[in-house]
Amino acid sequence: MTRFRFVMSSLGPLSGPVLVVGAGPAGATAARTLAVAGVPVCLLDRSAFPRNKPCGGGISARVLRRFPYLEHELGSIATHHVSRLYLEGPRGESTLLKSDRPAALMIRRVEFDHLLVSLALAAGAELVTGAEIVQARAEPDRVVLDARDGRRFEAPSVIAADGVHSVIARRLGLNAGWPATSVALDMMEETPRTTLRDLDPSTLWVAYGAGRGPATDGSGRRAAEGYAYVFPKRDHVNVGIGYVLSYYRQSVDEAPYDVQLGLIDALRRRGVLAGESVQRNFTPFLIPVGGPLREPGRGRVLLAGDAGGFVNGFTAEGIYYAMVSGDLAARAVLDSSPDSLPTLARRYRRACHYEIGAELRDSVLLQRYLFADCRRIARVIEGAGCEQGITRLVLDLAVGTRGYRDVRRRVLARSPLLAGRLVWERIRKKVLPEGRAGTRIRTVSE
Ligand SMILES: Cc1cc2nc3c(=O)[nH]c(=O)nc-3n(C[C@H](O)[C@H](O)[C@H](O)COP(=O)(O)OP(=O)(O)OC[C@H]3O[C@@H](n4cnc5c(N)ncnc54)[C@H](O)[C@@H]3O)c2cc1C
Repeated sequence: MTRFRFVMSSLGPLSGPVLVVGAGPAGATAARTLAVAGVPVCLLDRSAFPRNKPCGGGISARVLRRFPYLEHELGSIATHHVSRLYLEGPRGESTLLKSDRPAALMIRRVEFDHLLVSLALAAGAELVTGAEIVQARAEPDRVVLDARDGRRFEAPSVIAADGVHSVIARRLGLNAGWPATSVALDMMEETPRTTLRDLDPSTLWVAYGAGRGPATDGSGRRAAEGYAYVFPKRDHVNVGIGYVLSYYRQSVDEAPYDVQLGLIDALRRRGVLAGESVQRNFTPFLIPVGGPLREPGRGRVLLAGDAGGFVNGFTAEGIYYAMVSGDLAARAVLDSSPDSLPTLARRYRRACHYEIGAELRDSVLLQRYLFADCRRIARVIEGAGCEQGITRLVLDLAVGTRGYRDVRRRVLARSPLLAGRLVWERIRKKVLPEGRAGTRIRTVSE
């Protein structure tokens, strides 16, 4: 058995070497932050890079403000900037939102993730590939990880960024598995433009509450708990449809690729797409959409990215939050001393709550509020077309010129009805038992 044992640094166990498991956006960002600070860091992944990750690859442009070093580095990969968003509701209502600056950055994950890993390596991180972690154990002075091939890794602290199926979260009892109401099954393909083409590459096309299957509450008002999208890349197009898993199991009586073919066919008939779907480019995959775990870390282990549930429940955007949570996890470790170990996970949780907690919590409330009634989605979409002020604020958030708290305050001041509704949803969640409230929202703020 090979054993990688990092030597404790003279500064103390927690400022010493760190193991980061998973080299996606969360892990690679954490590793870079630690390496830039001069801390020895080993990034483990079961895959060799470049590797693909099923993903739409759309990131709100604010990522460039939060991680300014990216701007220059992105020159080495194919990027596409988009400033128009077409939004459609379940009953055909639609609107086109335009930003005067690019609001979204479109990338291919196979290239973007490789770039983030190379930035971590350039900063001094070490990468070990082919290391699939199957066991994790926390001891009083270290964390021990076992790989499938028999290698053992030990370090004083671990950042687990091993994705939606996080083995580390499961083995350490931090997440017994996502309930079907808190993950979406996203069916998506990324195909070269020469084969499948979106007819307007300047626009993100998103249909909310889209899809097949009967409403689940018998009223006829409930929207399909899904969203469909067409994301243009420089040389590719990503087309997909995602459903909350519980809804998919209950209401969609089709195999994933048949759902995809149905979507592409419908979009072709409408003139949104042209060309053919390619099955080998199609990969259904899960996204956590129920909000961050109540406890995104314990003792010497912090969960970042999908492993901790850091995804926007309304837009299913996860790359930005993966990078932010990875960075915050690294900073929490950097700020630690042996004496502050008992508070490491709490400090990380607080940092996440401060920066992204409110928006992730609201995103889940919004998702559940809107899916509950098609008319609400229609009101939001129609409102977006005429409420120029609110639209401007939301675009400012996407671009990064305003923070979420500021945007939230201003939007709620303009829309007292929405403010009341959010307050009511929070009260309902606190007062009613889970089953009756119909939601299962766990957030870092709880
Ligand atoms: C179909 C689909 C479309 C999406 N579209 C978008 C989008 O357009 N925009 C957006 O922002 N988000 C999107 N998301 C969400 C986004 O992909 C995730 O939130 C994001 O990838 C999370 O990053 P991460 O670093 O936490 O995890 P990942 O990117 O999943 O990386 C985890 C890494 O851990 C490694 N790993 C896993 N298990 C182990 C193990 N046991 N041992 C060692 N290594 C391991 C994996 O190989 C992988 O490299 C989409 C998701 C899906 C499924």
